[in-house]
Amino acid sequence: MKTENNFIQWKGTDLCMDFHCECGTHNHYDGFFAYYVKCSGCGQVYKMDTKVKMEKVYGNNFNPLENECE
Ligand SMILES: [Zn+2]
Repeated sequence: MKTENNFIQWKGTDLCMDFHCECGTHNHYDGFFAYYVKCSGCGQVYKMDTKVKMEKVYGNNFNPLENECE
């Protein structure tokens, strides 16, 4: 699957994320401005990537973005 079809510029978007650190710690985060996440187990800080995997979907049970920014 092609993974180069987006580049995200984070803008303080609200986040709900399950997190798995390389140290074995699992955590859950809810909050705004999640540009960086710190592991509660080992203290490692991670920067959020600008790439997110996208998958094709079919049907009409969505409300997708369709228009370009001005
Ligand atoms: Zn960790």
